[in-house]
Amino acid sequence: MFNIVLQTSTTGGNSGFFDSPWWQFASLMTWAVLIGLWLALVFWTYKDARRRLTDPLMIGISVVTSFVFPYIGPIFYMILRPPEYLEDVLERDLEIRAKELAITGAADRCPACRTPVRDDFFICPKCRRQLKLACSKCEKPLDPSWRACPYCATEVSASAGTPSLIEEDELFA
Ligand SMILES: [Zn+2]
Ligand SMILES: [Zn+2]
Repeated sequence: MFNIVLQTSTTGGNSGFFDSPWWQFASLMTWAVLIGLWLALVFWTYKDARRRLTDPLMIGISVVTSFVFPYIGPIFYMILRPPEYLEDVLERDLEIRAKELAITGAADRCPACRTPVRDDFFICPKCRRQLKLACSKCEKPLDPSWRACPYCATEVSASAGTPSLIEEDELFA
């Protein structure tokens, strides 16, 4: 590869300077640095894209772009890449969730209106959607999908349909 490059650069001018070993060495070194930098930038694009992108196709496009367009490709990639590392995004989401938990004490959200709700809420305080059913014996909140009460071992009988629902006036008394 270097030989081709050197031939094209030496056949042009026949002046003594371009035939000198010094020029050949300098030219070789320049090309080595340029090609080395080009490949290093392609590798850097690959490494950086993997930390910022989830889609393998987008990572592939980024790497191919910086390979096909030496130096220019990585610059375009730097302009267009997502601003954050994936782990930072994940960490921030976790932080927000942890803060929400600390504020509301709620690990879940109402499936209807997304209001944070606590495990022991029978209904959503905002939209009144039924979240839990009261155990017929101990009145602890039960998930509608549970078949027995985990607190008092009372079966949630299928024949009885749903366990006793708490009356509205009882809840809002
Ligand atoms: Zn709700
Ligand atoms: Zn119970």
